[in-house]
Amino acid sequence: MSIRALYRSGRPVVSFEVFPPKQDTGIDDIYEALAQLAALAPDFISVTYGAGGSGSVNRTAEITAAVRRRYGIRAMAHLTCVGAERGRVAAQLDAMRAEGVRNVLALRGDDSEGARPGAYRHAEDLIREIRARGGFCIGAACYPEGHIDCESPARDIEYLRRKQDAGADFLIGQLCFDNNLFFGFLERARAAGVTVPISAGVMPILGRRQIERMIFLCGASLPSEIIKLLHRHAHSPADLRAAGIERAAGQVEALLAGGVDGVHIYTMNKPEIASTCMTRIGRV
Ligand code: FAD
Repeated sequence: MSIRALYRSGRPVVSFEVFPPKQDTGIDDIYEALAQLAALAPDFISVTYGAGGSGSVNRTAEITAAVRRRYGIRAMAHLTCVGAERGRVAAQLDAMRAEGVRNVLALRGDDSEGARPGAYRHAEDLIREIRARGGFCIGAACYPEGHIDCESPARDIEYLRRKQDAGADFLIGQLCFDNNLFFGFLERARAAGVTVPISAGVMPILGRRQIERMIFLCGASLPSEIIKLLHRHAHSPADLRAAGIERAAGQVEALLAGGVDGVHIYTMNKPEIASTCMTRIGRV
């Protein structure tokens, strides 16, 4: 069953995200983590593509295919297009098809070397190209608080609608620590004609530096409740981590209680995060 069909099955979709190891590190750790994640039976697992400068580009299709073959879990490969030649994107899509990967999260990506001219300006261009090829189920990213480069959240939703019109079958949300902000976004997106299923993205707080990095990278706001949590556990990283994972599990539970289409858990390759969330919502 495709991810598109899964969202139509009437049950909220719970997905996990992992990232490939860096090029110069061994691949075994990710397979150990994947075995534990797969045992939790998520609806699908997605594998990032070169995110955060991990140099993982070549491993995304391989790991995505392994999720399906080794563990029997539906899988999705992320793919970015900024600064890429059409030929490279075509080769990546061919490699995915050859590996049996049929679900793609089509992204612009962030060009760390500055705005190089390329064949693709926005995710919309990539989505259109993948749709024209046929045979793929296509996801795209959305931003409950607006994308960091976009001057107006309303404009950001207009662009989201264009991604849907270009062929996105479903949307996965950037991390958002405040469910009220997510539900407000959902209402505005629906009012603007975005009808495809939307999963909320949940990332736990594991440490102060991780959170600082994330909020400056994507512009997510930090509720004062989290600032207090960071303060309370300032001298105890283990307690902060445990409290952060518990908070994420509570967030997942509340999102599902609020009737979301799905929840996408940024596992950071740490099975205990996913396992705490799945236990809290009674899925293990
Ligand atoms: P776009 O949809 O192109 O949007 C980018 C900006 O352009 C926004 O400000 C938007 O408002 C604007 N825009 C969009 N369309 C138009 C248009 N037609 N005209 C004018 N302006 C427009 N990055 C990675 O490198 N690898 C990953 O694996 C990865 N996985 C991710 C997974 C999720 C769930 C999310 C939410 C993000 C992920 N990212 C990843 C980060 C992502 O690449 C960045 O957020 C990037 O800056 C934007 O990507 P996009 O696909 O949303 O771009």
